[in-house]
This record gives sequence, structure tokens and C-alpha cells, in this order.
Amino acid sequence: MATTTAPVPLDIPSLLPDSTHLITGEWVPARSRSTIDVANPATGTVIARVPRGAAGDIDDAVRSAEAALPAWRDTSPAVRGELLYRWAELVREHDDDINRLEAIEVGHPVGPSPIAARLTYLAGKADKVLGDTLPTRSPNVLGLTLREPYGVVGAIIPWNAPGPMTVFNTAAPIAAGNTVVLKPAEDAPLTALYLARLALEAGIPPGVLNVVTGYGSEAGAALPAHPGIRKMSFTGSPATGTAVMEACARNLIPLQLELGGKSPQIVLPDADLDKAIPAIVRSIVMNSGQVCAAGSRVLVHSSLHGRLVEELAARFRAVRVGTWDQPVDMGPLINARQEKRVLDYLAIGREEGAEIVVGGGKLTEPPYSEGYFVEPTLFDQVRPEMRIAQEEIFGPVLSVLTYDDEDEAVAIANGTRYGLTATVWTRDIGRAVRLARRVEAGQVAVNTVGDGGPTGSIGTPFGGYKNSGFGRSMGHDYLEDWTQVKAVVIDASPTR
Ligand code: NAD
Repeated sequence: MATTTAPVPLDIPSLLPDSTHLITGEWVPARSRSTIDVANPATGTVIARVPRGAAGDIDDAVRSAEAALPAWRDTSPAVRGELLYRWAELVREHDDDINRLEAIEVGHPVGPSPIAARLTYLAGKADKVLGDTLPTRSPNVLGLTLREPYGVVGAIIPWNAPGPMTVFNTAAPIAAGNTVVLKPAEDAPLTALYLARLALEAGIPPGVLNVVTGYGSEAGAALPAHPGIRKMSFTGSPATGTAVMEACARNLIPLQLELGGKSPQIVLPDADLDKAIPAIVRSIVMNSGQVCAAGSRVLVHSSLHGRLVEELAARFRAVRVGTWDQPVDMGPLINARQEKRVLDYLAIGREEGAEIVVGGGKLTEPPYSEGYFVEPTLFDQVRPEMRIAQEEIFGPVLSVLTYDDEDEAVAIANGTRYGLTATVWTRDIGRAVRLARRVEAGQVAVNTVGDGGPTGSIGTPFGGYKNSGFGRSMGHDYLEDWTQVKAVVIDASPTR
């Protein structure tokens, strides 16, 4: 696995003012003056405090965004794009701080970040949102469509990747002329706040991007219910996604939804295992498996089963677990609730009759004793109907399932409620094409994972089929999702 170099400790107060969030470009406390402790999940140490915002703070932020809207909507798209480029430049300049901030609050090792590249991509789209000219019945009439921003939009993001999530869910609406209220997760709100600080420093006007921190049941629930919100995006658990969707329905506003996955890694008999196995392990160990697109199910042809399990096991045993500032492959889970969830699934897998090949428990000895460390775990003999093969665990737990022919592989791959991402490992281009079409997922990779990483495809749309959600982040037309169509018909015919 890739080695990370040990970074120096992080001075959080130099990056963010204490116990404040961002409304109208001002760092302000919660109306209630209450705060939430943000802890390092590797040690339990409190690293910062953020406001415990609630409905009143959301209302302040929505009003701020409403006040900023007319000027921002009327700002030339070219200027909006330039400001987003400047934001991307600042992100690049402060890449190290951003990466370490996210690492310390989420618990994952420091690694390369896609944020600046994504921002640059979205900045370049700002002045390329186009309308149509419409065919008319008379040459004296001009029909056209304008693409206009919705207005004030809301975004609720989870704790597992706050940097990329902030960019996905704020930069596109802002580039399209909307103003935004962002509610980051209570467990990891710092990266979002710091990125908003850089947006402000880049010259994006006060009130265009507001960040309200707080608990989901308080600040979170208030956001989609606010009558000033015109569109929402939500990323997180299916249960909360349902609640947000209900609130959006009551408010009659549209929603972009991303709810996780149970992504299959389909290993065909002719797969290049030397390429596949390290990638499969990385995909489930990265961020301790707390990734919606984690490849949590390996579907292997029975002819390769023995070798694959043996080689996966060797790699699982070699995974280095530790704190974000050490050269490790994997850190702790985010909090006690997530740790319990993963440990419960390990027990469920055992009870269902799956076989633990590596791992299977909590790491309790120092230096792990103070944090939420769980062993990377490899389950074999998993059957498709088992809960560990159906439900999103959101931990470093990989299930191996066996199939005998392509139809069975497709049936297993498609046999969950989810459909976020999938990978097909094969040297046969015909099978690759066939399976890419047959697998139900918003993103299918062949002989790689996700968008292929640093050498992969650019601006790759991301989002789910089935219960994984709807709407796409990124893609060449992503900004259009943050606009609504206005048809304009101009009758220029002379008066009779
Ligand atoms: P969650 O869905 O409860 O939280 C996600 C965000 O929603 C947070 O900002 C939270 O404050 C907010 N929220 C919570 N309740 C809300 C409400 N009633 N109204 C509005 N916003 C609300 O997720 P979680 O509890 O942090 O994690 C639980 C599980 O969700 C995980 O184990 C994992 O399976 C899944 N998850 C998926 C993703 C993903 O990327 N798809 C990310 C995080 C978690």
C-alpha cells in the first residue's frame, strides 16, 4: 500500500476562529451560545468546538443567502468562474492544511486530495451554462430558454469526506448563480468551515456561502423545512435521507440525494489478480471503509476463489492501522456509534455462518485503546442473502462471494437495494462491455475503481441507481442541475 509521510501537528486555532460558524461572511456563535465538541477519533481528544446551531441560526443563514442572491445571480458567469478559480488556487496553496484538518477530524491518514482539481473543473463550467433557441412558427418571433439559478439552496453533508463533499455540494450551485447554506456533520465540521473561509478570502461575496454547524435533528432538520430554500442536496444514511426527502416534499422543493452503496467488485476468471487485489483491498481499507463507494463485496469466479482469498488475506494482514499523523493505511472509525455498528455487523456475519479469515474484532491495546479502531476484516463463504452482503456496513469489512457463471455474477451484483458503483476485473473486452451494461450502478469501472484516480477520467459523474439515490455530482452538465429553465418568447412582428 502507498506510504504516507508523517506530517507535523496541526494548529487548528490558526485556521479557524473558536466556536463560530459563518453567516454573511462573519464568524458568529450559535444564537444559543451552545457548542459541540469535535474530537480526534483516534484519541478521543477534543480538538475544537463549533456552534450548536439550530432553527434560528438556519433562519439567519437563509436570510443572509437571500440578501446576497440578487447581486450574485446578476454577477457575470465569467466573474463567478474567476472567483471560483481563485478559490481553487487558495485551496491548492493551503492543500496541506486542508488535508491535515480533514485527516484529524475524520481519522484517516493524510493523502492526496482531489478538491482543488474538482473546484477548477467546476469553475471552468460557470460561463458554459447555455440555453436553447427554439424553432418558431414565424420569422418575427424569437423563442429561447434561459437557465437561471434556483435561488437559495441547502446542502447537508456527512462526516466521511467533508472536503470533497463541501466542494461537490456548494461549488456547482454557487457557480450557477445560487447562494448556499451548508450544514456539515457534527462529527467533522472543520474542513467545511475552513473551505468556506478560503471561499470568502477568494472574493466570493459574504452571504453566498454560509455554513451553519449543529446536530442533524436541530440545524439539519431545519434546513430543508425552511420556506426560503429552493433546492436541497443531501448525502448520508437512507434513514436520514428519507426524513430530508419528506421535508422537501412538504416544502415542495427538489432534492439531490446520495445514500451509500454495497458496491460489487466482480472478478472474472481471466482477471489480472496482481492488479485487482491491491485495488480491492485499498477500496475497502481507505477511510476505514467509511466510503459510500467502498467496494465491500468481492464476487469471484469459483475457479479463482482459493487463490483470491489467500492473497487478499495476506494483504489484509499487512494493513497498517494507526493515527492520521503516522505512515499508515487506515485509521479509526469516526465515533463510538460507528464502532458499535461495525462490531455488530461482525457478530451478525458470524451468526449468519460466514467465515472470518482475517480480523473480526476491536483493537484494544495501546496505541489503539483510546480510539475507535476495528481490525480490517475479511469474511469468506458469504452468501448473497446474508445481511453482511446486503447492508452497508461503512467499515473495513470485505465479503467474498462466489459465482459460477456470468448470469449469476450479475444477479448477485444487482441483488441489493443499492446501485452506486461497481468494478469489473477482466482482460476480455467483450465481457467488460457486457457487464458494464448489465450492472445496475451509477458508475462502473473496468480494471480500476471509481473514476480511476489521478490518471482516471475527469469530471466523472457520481451518483446512484436504485436506493443509492438520484442526481449526479460532477459531469459536464452538473451545473445545469442547479438551474431552472425559463422559456422566453419575443414577438417582434410589426403592429398591424
Ligand atoms: P446521517 O445520515 O445521520 O448524517 C448525515 C448528515 O445528516 C449529517 O450532517 C447529520 O447531522 C445530518 N442529519 C442527521 N439527522 C438529520 C435530520 N433529521 N434532518 C436533516 N439532517 C440530518 O448519517 P450518520 O449517522 O452520520 O451515519 C450513519 C450511517 O449513514 C453510516 O453508518 C453509513 O452507513 C451512512 N452514511 C453514508 C454516507 C454516504 O456517503 N452515503 C455518509 C455518511 C454516512
